[in-house]
Amino acid sequence: MSKGGLIVYSRERLMCCLYFLEDYIMSAMRANPNEKFEKLALDGGEPVRHKPLPLEFPGGHFIDHEEIDAVCCVLKRKSPFRYYGFERTDETDLFENQYAEYCRRKYALGVSSGTAALSISLAALGVGPGQEVLVPGYFWVSSVSAIVRAGAIPVLVDIDETFCMNPKDFEKKITRKSSVVLLVHMSGAPGRLDEICRITSENGLKMLADCAQANGASFKGKPIGSYGDIAIFSFQLNKNMTAGEGGMIVCDDKQLYNRIFACHDMGYARDAAGRLDTNDQQYQLWGQGCRMTEITAAMGRVQLRKLPKIVHKMNTAKYKIRKGLSDIEGIKFRTIIDPEGDSGPFLITIFPSSDICQKFVKALRCEGIAPPKVGLSNVPMTQWGLHIYYNNSSLVNKTSISDDGSPWSHPANKDSNYNYAKGTLTSMDDLISRSSILSIPSVLTDEDIGDIVCAYHKVAAHIPLK
Ligand SMILES: *Cc1c(COP(=O)(O)O)cnc(C)c1O
Repeated sequence: MSKGGLIVYSRERLMCCLYFLEDYIMSAMRANPNEKFEKLALDGGEPVRHKPLPLEFPGGHFIDHEEIDAVCCVLKRKSPFRYYGFERTDETDLFENQYAEYCRRKYALGVSSGTAALSISLAALGVGPGQEVLVPGYFWVSSVSAIVRAGAIPVLVDIDETFCMNPKDFEKKITRKSSVVLLVHMSGAPGRLDEICRITSENGLKMLADCAQANGASFKGKPIGSYGDIAIFSFQLNKNMTAGEGGMIVCDDKQLYNRIFACHDMGYARDAAGRLDTNDQQYQLWGQGCRMTEITAAMGRVQLRKLPKIVHKMNTAKYKIRKGLSDIEGIKFRTIIDPEGDSGPFLITIFPSSDICQKFVKALRCEGIAPPKVGLSNVPMTQWGLHIYYNNSSLVNKTSISDDGSPWSHPANKDSNYNYAKGTLTSMDDLISRSSILSIPSVLTDEDIGDIVCAYHKVAAHIPLK
């Protein structure tokens, strides 16, 4: 078959799948089909687009005068501390109340980061030496560092095509030392949550849900933060809503909340005037000094109002792209159990082999499907840094902060000897080796979406997907 034939075929296919997109994309393609589609940009052809895609940072794009005014209000009253000052602003109290309501929880506590939220939660759950915490191998480094710093041993659980914990492997990895499952809802959406919740309760474990990457998501109609004994969130710049930094912990149990409170602060309760109360013997603990500032809370409150809009933008764009690519044989997407509840910040594409994945992504990037230089998007997942267990050298090498090699060498942990090097999780290794991850910025236009769909089709017409 001549090269021209191949192009016409791919153009027709493209036309079919682009019916839902703006007219101008169609006319652009009709106007200049040969130049754009005959030759891959990788081989010196004309790229599908010339300007980079927008940067990721979902909440960041939505910062405007509302956040500026809210933060200025706090500063004008010279009261950035939540418990007392010249004139109380109560931003953190208000933020927590609104957050608890949004997650359908009894309690919410603002903290300084998602990483702090994880450490505080594990401390509140009483996690320490002699315990194992189950965690999926696809995570962010904070999830596993919190376990190690608590003195417990992380046990890696394999993932499946949901890119979240595989329930069967979870069940298999439970031992008599297991105390908590640290479930991470990766890349915007949860995995097989029903089965994992069932296994957790059947085995008498506690669940700490790391929702840092899935704020605004839901599962079967319930907000993502409503699942687990404790759920945590992050407001760092990469997350769906942001205050630059910050985190939130939610739960329903009063006792647990009081422990969380003491651990996040100075180890003790506070009275109504915001002064430390060291008399309550139940809450004479050790604190981590991770309180939320009024500035963070003021900005967080504005972003929480915008969160549904931010998530709607990403979800809509992501599923337009998935639909536009659904007729390309040979590529698959991550399994999403409840697409309506997907917060949408990432598209994960699964290729038939690692080799094809590398070639395909390289060609796509040449077609202009890439962020500006400072961004990280549309990369093979092997390059997804500290999200991948075997890329964490501190974990692979079982590094300790102290000279005694804790927690790995702790006598109470002597029966918990695990491996963390590549090869430990076979299904995850395979999936990561042949998948790519593309950020779905919260400000993608139909033109951007059309370019992404076009580029995938163009590359698929040139690189065999078998
Ligand atoms: C970002 C993130 C965290 C940590 O949040 P910070 O606010 O950056 O400390 C924890 N877990 C996951 C899954 C994350 O993506």
